[in-house]
Amino acid sequence: MTYQSRNHDDAKWESVVKRDLSARGEFVYAVRTTGVYCQPGCPARIPNRENVVFFSSPDAAEKSGYRPCKKCNPKGLPPTERQVEMIVKICRYLEEVDELPTLNELAARAGLSPWYFQRLFKKVVGLTPKEYATFSQVSRFRKHLYSSKTISEAIYESGYSSSSRAYEKTAAHLAMTPTAFRNGGRGIRITYGSAFSSLGWVVVAATEKGICMVEFGDNPEELPGKVRQAFPKAEIEEAGSDFTDLLRRVIAYIDNPDEVEVFPLDMQGTVFQKRVWKALQSIPPGGTMSYREVAEKIELPKGSRAVAGACASNKIAVLIPCHRVVKQDGRPGGYRWGTDRKLKLLRREKKKETTSK
Ligand SMILES: [Zn+2]
Repeated sequence: MTYQSRNHDDAKWESVVKRDLSARGEFVYAVRTTGVYCQPGCPARIPNRENVVFFSSPDAAEKSGYRPCKKCNPKGLPPTERQVEMIVKICRYLEEVDELPTLNELAARAGLSPWYFQRLFKKVVGLTPKEYATFSQVSRFRKHLYSSKTISEAIYESGYSSSSRAYEKTAAHLAMTPTAFRNGGRGIRITYGSAFSSLGWVVVAATEKGICMVEFGDNPEELPGKVRQAFPKAEIEEAGSDFTDLLRRVIAYIDNPDEVEVFPLDMQGTVFQKRVWKALQSIPPGGTMSYREVAEKIELPKGSRAVAGACASNKIAVLIPCHRVVKQDGRPGGYRWGTDRKLKLLRREKKKETTSK
């Protein structure tokens, strides 16, 4: 195997000598005299070449009796920013592909050994690449299921090649319980409170993780019903006085959205919807983006319509600023809680921005 070849080891040795961090994950090197193994980039003294042995993974080195170096921690280093970025790119790729690529293909794309890639992916995402790909595909399928006219259309649009496969996969995955799949909010406890704002009545609902809903209503009586409608299977109760502070802060933010305030959010949606919502959170008060610009931002340039769909299904008004997404020609476009409210919000934010300059 060329893997063991002299040239290959020479290239590795060069990475060791240069302390090349970017070679991390491609191999580890062990030092016979110390019994310790390191990864490229280790700050410790460079060992003598003749005492060095290369291994493809930490496990392989440990099987040969070496123990991990305490300085470079070859097994447990947190991922670098560049690695996270790379993993995010792989995620986006997995969200779009129709056929699941093999682990080797993905690792090659990332420029890492399959062993290390799988480990890094799991560390960053919390799922294996395969689980993630299946998860995204199922999310796409479910999203289409609710918006398409026929099931066969949904299957076709979400990239499944045959319908029987789609049923097999969804049947298995509908039972999964990551947040995005908690259809109807089964198994979560939600508390809510309501108050009056400059844009009418507002209901704020939260799980233990954060705010899961902010909606406008025309009268206070309809608000509890809105929460129940959004999370029909959740355990819902009206909040006590401990909720007052959060409620007050949300109302203050709605009335004065340029304040620097960060709320914990519990976004309940598909992988794709969350991607759109996160992109919306990067639009500052006073700024706007078109649906197409948002689509481009999430690297889905033809996804304007899907972006509009995700905006329309946003349950967290103002804190996820879907009101800052407008039509290409500058017209406001639709708003789940009425175009009037959208216009008011936009005008107010624009005015604040120009007066503060
Ligand atoms: Zn080391």
